Amino acid sequence: MEKTNFRPNLRASEANVSMESCDDVIIRHLYDYKLDLLREEFDEENVRTTSSYQQLDVEKTIKPLFKLFTQCVEINLDEPILRRDKHVKFLKNCLYKLPSSYECLDASRAWICYWICHSLSLLDEPLSSSDKTCVVNFLSQCQSPNGGFGGGPGQDPHLAATYAAVNCLIILGTPEAYKCINRPKLKQFLTRMKAQDGGFHVHDGGEVDIRGVYCALCVALLTQVYSEEMFNNTREWLTACQTYEGGFSGYPGFEAHGGYTFCGFAALGLLKAEHLCDIKALLRWASNRQMNFEGGFQGRTNKLVDGCYSFWQGGLFPLIYRSLMKAGDTCLDGHWLFHHRALQEYILICCQHFNGGLLDKPEKNRDLYHTCYTLSGLSVAQHPPMGTDVIGTPQNCLKTVHPMYNIEFQALKSAISYFESHPYEAEENVEENAS
Ligand SMILES: [Zn+2]
Repeated sequence: MEKTNFRPNLRASEANVSMESCDDVIIRHLYDYKLDLLREEFDEENVRTTSSYQQLDVEKTIKPLFKLFTQCVEINLDEPILRRDKHVKFLKNCLYKLPSSYECLDASRAWICYWICHSLSLLDEPLSSSDKTCVVNFLSQCQSPNGGFGGGPGQDPHLAATYAAVNCLIILGTPEAYKCINRPKLKQFLTRMKAQDGGFHVHDGGEVDIRGVYCALCVALLTQVYSEEMFNNTREWLTACQTYEGGFSGYPGFEAHGGYTFCGFAALGLLKAEHLCDIKALLRWASNRQMNFEGGFQGRTNKLVDGCYSFWQGGLFPLIYRSLMKAGDTCLDGHWLFHHRALQEYILICCQHFNGGLLDKPEKNRDLYHTCYTLSGLSVAQHPPMGTDVIGTPQNCLKTVHPMYNIEFQALKSAISYFESHPYEAEENVEENAS
């Protein structure tokens, strides 16, 4: 395609992205944009639906924020600024006392620990050793005597809570945190969750879905209890979840969705089997989820922008890039295949609560889940392969996230070296001798 004919916008249109080549997606990045000139407002095309009405509504709330930003940046070149201190304060306060609105998340307390500790690690804000001990002690109460972790003390083990607890313990990174995980029992739990068709039940007798596979695979690999047998027909099950759109659904036959797509493609990557799915179709689907006006991502076709998809969709691009590189694709030029600057602007201008914490979109409230996943997406956007590229002041730069596990790189490295030098079989022998 001639560059002069190319009409740049924030996302590649369906027509502009060839299924054979990713040239067109990359060309977008060769332009020196003025983002505000390129933002493309939604066109209803004379068909008003509930979705189109909501989309216009969101753009109406976002437009003044972008306008204010262009005025602010003329006065202060450091804009947009990550309100680092406010976010740290919000997160640390929540570690010991949650607002009453979190009551309904009683079965997600292991997740809350992960959301807080992961966000703080990306913000490079260390926890004191007594704080770390408190979190380890709490998570050990969530561990089931039959292996795996529940969402709260005494609750039944669940694969999602197990992923959250293991990730959190790895982020804490102390020997007591690593030792807290009963790996022989964890292996039994994971084996018990395996379904015959290659999927995983999320808990005893629970539903089989793609989150279960991703969570089981992450914890098995991170804690080194992985066995080929445990995941013998899982590659085929995952591949069956890729839909005609290119994204992945939670279970074969359902609609493609950002969170499920991340879980599915990351799981295929962890199993070294990305080549089994249609990566070009996935790239087309994922790059079209970046919104033309907002710069953030939507979770599904025809849905609204949401800050948490900064990671669920944004985190896909490093995985896609790695797979294309492995396959010898010559189009790659050191940029992620989405507009990483537009995503940073959406997060920094539209998703920060003035009192700390981040959110889905303006006019929504802040919460720990969105704080965790907007910051994770911001980290991905700031660290393309060509080198760090941070919007606003350099102080906005976050620590680098490992996109496959969503754990900060150094913490992940330390945990892998610990578990490699402490095989779980040794713990198995101790258990047997004790019984
Ligand atoms: Zn969300």
